[in-house]
Amino acid sequence: STWLGVMGGGQLGRMFAHAAQAMGYKVAVLEPSADCPAGHVADRTIEGDYANGAALNELAALCAAVTTEFENVPADSLAQLAADSFVAPSSLCVQIAQDRILEKKFFVDCAPNSKVLPAPHKTIASHADIDAIGDDLLPGILKTVRMGYDGKGQVRVRSREDVRAAFDSMDGVTCLLEKMLPLAYEVSVLTARGHDGESVVYPIAENVHRDGILFTTTVPGPNVSAACAQQAQDAARAIVAQLGYVGVLCIEFFVLEDGTLVVNEMAPRPHNSGHYTIDACITSQFAQQVRAMARLPLGDVRQHSASVMLNILGDVWFEGDREDAREPAWDRVLALPGANLHLYGKNDPRRGRKMGHVTFVAPTLAEAQGNLRAACAILGIEP
Ligand code: ATP
Ligand code: MG
Ligand code: MG
Repeated sequence: STWLGVMGGGQLGRMFAHAAQAMGYKVAVLEPSADCPAGHVADRTIEGDYANGAALNELAALCAAVTTEFENVPADSLAQLAADSFVAPSSLCVQIAQDRILEKKFFVDCAPNSKVLPAPHKTIASHADIDAIGDDLLPGILKTVRMGYDGKGQVRVRSREDVRAAFDSMDGVTCLLEKMLPLAYEVSVLTARGHDGESVVYPIAENVHRDGILFTTTVPGPNVSAACAQQAQDAARAIVAQLGYVGVLCIEFFVLEDGTLVVNEMAPRPHNSGHYTIDACITSQFAQQVRAMARLPLGDVRQHSASVMLNILGDVWFEGDREDAREPAWDRVLALPGANLHLYGKNDPRRGRKMGHVTFVAPTLAEAQGNLRAACAILGIEP
């Protein structure tokens, strides 16, 4: 049988493996330790650092195609794999998505086609850069250029002194200062593009973050107008086309109080805000990833049920100030209509750690939302 490879062993790799195996593929995972969410379900786990030459050679020799579930894999590793395997997304696309400076520059270059701009921003690599900041960028958010996720590696700043203190606290790594924008709400657009240049765009998703981490994704989004959805979907098509992207890509947008759409960042892989597609769409984002990398026709992105996804963090294992973890009442959550529970097989719950998600599907959004509120009550989550 044919093998597909994935760089990274987290929950996205695990759900990719489930989808690939359901379609008859064998799955190989490359991850430093086999004791990881994807390693528990893969047909083979190659233990090694993402830049380990021997591990990369083994993966490329085994697999017809390789993808990534982790946006921070060394772009050079993907280039190396591409000598022996079909690699999607490409090294270049991942390189752009993993570096906020390259990413913002790409969005600006793409604006004539996408009709959206990123937030006003400036690279901060030295104290001289801080002295040269215009007042128009403050208040703002200082973000590390690389490796940030879930709001980690970012500091909100009001003054130039704040920027200096924040920059000094980041161990001298290059940062990007972004103007703080008045957000009305946030949306994301999941898209996939095949090797033949055909692309598909999923329904737009409305996202609520809490403490920098995605809290819920609602589709259809209660705040999203038809015009906004169209604009974001058109922008997504322009962006994947200009990237020459192959695979699944998720693009995050802000909608400002005056209705302006702003492009924030993109993830070169399936995305947390796309988990609803597993239970609410004809083709899940993971099945789509398999299709794109295996150079098969892309699948139908139609949504068949209204849906709300709730991320399950480790916090729900710890009631109040409890020190010892206690398994949440999944039986009561699963008794709710339209509940689909996905747990990632992580054995040590910790506060703030993504342990799983639950998606409620229903004929109407109101029903799905009602069941989600009931689940929050059971799990002790503020709705
Ligand atoms: P992710 O886990 O999505 O990769 P991240 O750490 O890469 O997150 P961002 O998505 O850039 O970080 O920012 C996290 C959140 O912070 C955004 O979803 C948004 O709520 C808020 N935010 C980021 N940039 C801005 C901005 N320029 N103006 C206002 N809010 C912002
Ligand atoms: Mg990010
Ligand atoms: Mg983000």
